[in-house]
Amino acid sequence: MTSEEFRQCGRDVIDWIADYYERIETFSVLSQVQPGQIRASLPSTPPLQGEAFETILDDVDKQIIPGITHWQSPNFFAFFPANTSGPAILGELLAAGLGVQGMLWSTSPACTELETHVLDWLVDMLGLPIKFKSDASGGGVIQDSASSASLCALLAARERVTDYDSNQRGCDGRLVAYASSQTHSSIEKAVKIAGIGFRNLHLIEVDDHFRLRPDALARQVKQDRQAGLIPFFVCATVGTTSANAIDPLTAIGPICQKEGLWLHVDAAMSGTAALCPEYRYIHDGLELADSYCFNPHKWMFTNFDCDCFYVADRAILIKTLSVLPEYLRNKASESGAVIDYRDWHIPLGRRFRSLKLWFVIRYYGIEGLRYHIRRHVELAQKFAKWVEASDRFELTAPVPLNLVCFRHMGGDTFNQLLLDGLNQSGRLYLTHTMLNDQFVLRFCVGQTYTAEHHVHKAWQLIQATAAELESK
Ligand code: PLP
Repeated sequence: MTSEEFRQCGRDVIDWIADYYERIETFSVLSQVQPGQIRASLPSTPPLQGEAFETILDDVDKQIIPGITHWQSPNFFAFFPANTSGPAILGELLAAGLGVQGMLWSTSPACTELETHVLDWLVDMLGLPIKFKSDASGGGVIQDSASSASLCALLAARERVTDYDSNQRGCDGRLVAYASSQTHSSIEKAVKIAGIGFRNLHLIEVDDHFRLRPDALARQVKQDRQAGLIPFFVCATVGTTSANAIDPLTAIGPICQKEGLWLHVDAAMSGTAALCPEYRYIHDGLELADSYCFNPHKWMFTNFDCDCFYVADRAILIKTLSVLPEYLRNKASESGAVIDYRDWHIPLGRRFRSLKLWFVIRYYGIEGLRYHIRRHVELAQKFAKWVEASDRFELTAPVPLNLVCFRHMGGDTFNQLLLDGLNQSGRLYLTHTMLNDQFVLRFCVGQTYTAEHHVHKAWQLIQATAAELESK
């Protein structure tokens, strides 16, 4: 592709994306294709000769778009968001254009230094403890996902408690990790990958707001020690996936400190709320955490993937993950004056992800970001009030931020039918969870362009669909 052709095709792609956002509300939010339908529309063999770029872009409309669930639709209320924005998309494009691989400081100093700088900015922007800054004992690094961040936290905790012996000889099955029964499934995956074993993940019961119970944690730790096990890791969550519960860090931290347990705090979606001073209470007690992560790729207008992972003591993480083959040796690394992020996560190679984050922070400014977060929270709170005022629906969990858990009073089967009917309409997309053994609908406001009229129309559609089902 010559640079002239690249310019032309590039303009076409940017136009395509801009048009996509203009017409996004015309698509069914949830893709309605059947399994195998997309593959069946694709040629069975790859082209022997190259094709015109125009033809390829054309096929995106014909063959790909039908199989897209429109996460960037303002009517997307499912899961947690994975929102994006113009500056993020353009930052990502630029990162692809530069095509650098920043495994070592020397393989692109700007890739490392911008990342360190932006992650330090975020400590101030979210009001996080300063020990997470690079000029203190800790530091931040961008990971692909919260799952990877939690795995790295678990590995560092494993090495700390075994004095780096499990890296040498593996685990002996006595290490025990803790999380609440509401913790994200990535912790289950992490204990399996890290060789801790699923049976050694002890799930702690929650209170009636779905928050981890510190008394139950303390009890379980004591019991495990008496049984000859070695407690070493706790994952607390700020904004659980099912109900957005905020675990009480102020009570969990002192237990971890007393017992010598690594405290990891997973704030995957909700951490972003701390951009607004009025929501910073969600991080109360974070001072005692050993590690923390949140995902700008969920709620901070930065397209997937981008998780920010912080540790209070970088030396432990680096000693856990560092390996040094001859071909990676270089003067800068040996001088000790630089960060080599390859030692801060699992892959060797790494993309220039901080570029899109830098674009987002600079384009919106802190106030701009706060404006959108506040708007999302206000819209969710409004929706919660409508549910509360209704005589056919009820809230099923507190609504601290932008997620509303609710259900129709008609029972599990009714709610399942309601959910199916809504999602098949294509006009919005919701997902569900189980809370207290009940089928519950989740309504999460977090897409960049969701406005009051979208939330209002969604509530009207939910009521109308329920009324239709009631009349059957
Ligand atoms: N932690 C929490 C609380 C989540 O809600 C999620 C996903 O929704 C994750 C972790 C996993 O996120 P990721 O896809 O970045 O691994």
